Formats: sequence, structure tokens, C-alpha cells
Amino acid sequence: MEYKGINIMEADTDTASFVNSFVEVEKFLAMCRECRNYNTVWSCPPYDFNVLDRWASFRAIHLTACRYDTFEGESVPHAVAALAKMKEILTGYCEELAARAPGSQVVSAGSCTICSEGCSRPLGLPCRHPDRMKHSIESLGGDVGAVMEHFFGLPVLWGVGDKPPAYLILCGGVLYV
Ligand code: SF4
Repeated sequence: MEYKGINIMEADTDTASFVNSFVEVEKFLAMCRECRNYNTVWSCPPYDFNVLDRWASFRAIHLTACRYDTFEGESVPHAVAALAKMKEILTGYCEELAARAPGSQVVSAGSCTICSEGCSRPLGLPCRHPDRMKHSIESLGGDVGAVMEHFFGLPVLWGVGDKPPAYLILCGGVLYV
């Protein structure tokens, strides 16, 4: 499938002010508890580390957002497939940035889907690819909706019935020491 018009947008800020303005760990942890990925995927809560300490261990965040404009008559399955493509593009782009900055860490959009056979967490086994697995901004308590509006002027839109929204957006980034 081909997707034209997937665009990357970027913004920079320091993690201290980012946390002050956009991170509410308990609020988003409550939402994570309602998700099927909670405690079943290693990229998602509950974590064995303190989330605020994790944010504090980085100096800055380079936000990367991905936007895809849907087209008239586009089906929901096609738009959903576009999301997967967006995540691939976004992750690849962030990995390239992180490769140039020792100590940096990529934060992704959504949960980890690397293992096609399913995550090892329900089996009580460690993550198979800890070097590739990424936490999402939202799983670390970040309010991605507010981030998208503040930095990129794009509210999150939802589809209605079998009609996708006018655009799809994902947000990830790179944390720098
Ligand atoms: S890499 Fe595999 S085992 Fe690790 S979090 Fe992702 S899906 Fe789970």
C-alpha cells in the first residue's frame, strides 16, 4: 500500500518544562490500567522503574510527530494500515536521530509490536529485544493530545462510523542526556 503525504513535524524542549506542562503519571496510569496491554506488554506499565526519575535522567526531548491526511472515501482499514506505516516511518526517523547521540533514547507512539508471536511478558519471560523495545510518551504519563495541540497546533481527531478523521497523527521523539 502506498501512502502519500505522510509528514514529519519536529519541535524541541527541555524535559523539565515538558514534564511540568504535559506529564501526569497517575492520570495516564489509570488509563493504561484499562488497556489490554497493561501488564501484558513490556513496553507498557506497570514498570519496575520510577517514571519521573526516568524523565529527569534526560535533559531534552526532540518531539517528532507524524501526520497523514486521509482522503475522501478512504476506508477505515486503509487508514488503520496507514497508522502502521506512520509508526514505522516515525520510529525509523527517531532511531536515525538517536544513533547520532550517545545515551539518547527513543520514545515511540503506542505499544511495542516487534514480536509477531506476541510479547513474552504474559509468559513470565524477559523482553526478547530490550535494545529495540521502546516506551511511548503516553505510557510514561505524557499527555500526547495536549502535546500535539501545543507544539503542532493539531488536535487529535476521531473518525465517525466508517469514516476516518481528516488526518491521523502520531507523536514520538528522542530523549537526550
Ligand atoms: S520486543 Fe517483544 S518481548 Fe519485548 S516488549 Fe516488544 S513485543 Fe514484548
